[in-house]
Amino acid sequence: MLSSVAMPDDPALPRACGACSLCCKLLPIAALDKPHDRWCMHCRPGAGGCTIYDSRPQTCRSFSCHWLADASFGDHWAPLKAKMLVQVARVDDAAYECFVDVHVDRGGADGWREEPYAGDLRRFAAAPRTLVRVFQGSRTFIVRPHETLEIRRG
Ligand code: SF4
Ligand code: SF4
Repeated sequence: MLSSVAMPDDPALPRACGACSLCCKLLPIAALDKPHDRWCMHCRPGAGGCTIYDSRPQTCRSFSCHWLADASFGDHWAPLKAKMLVQVARVDDAAYECFVDVHVDRGGADGWREEPYAGDLRRFAAAPRTLVRVFQGSRTFIVRPHETLEIRRG
């Protein structure tokens, strides 16, 4: 079962980011006018990470990827290894109560379509009222237990 997302400053977090800064690349940060899939101008990946750590936006302070927050989430999901990160959000939606969003780094290519990741995503998608979305560059996919659909925009 996927758990809720914890806070990165929470000392109870079961894992540590270490040299990973992937969320600083893959996620959009409105407060910084930073688009998704572009390194934050304040990030030095692999060389200390955030250069404005003490004054970073609240969005950054309150984020932790699911691998960081949930010790039961497989080690293969470590973002630097998987080349993607998973964000789990509880939502108040008529159709869903949980979004599982997978943000794929360009270097990860189609790794999310392969095992062990593909099987995990299908299992997540089989959970009640759960929507699994994969964001890969400009493309968005929906993973269902028995199929994967690309969402066409425009
Ligand atoms: S992607 Fe996860 S492990 Fe990597 S820096 Fe962000 S919160 Fe930490
Ligand atoms: S401000 Fe810091 S924590 Fe936030 S995205 Fe930029 S480098 Fe990452």
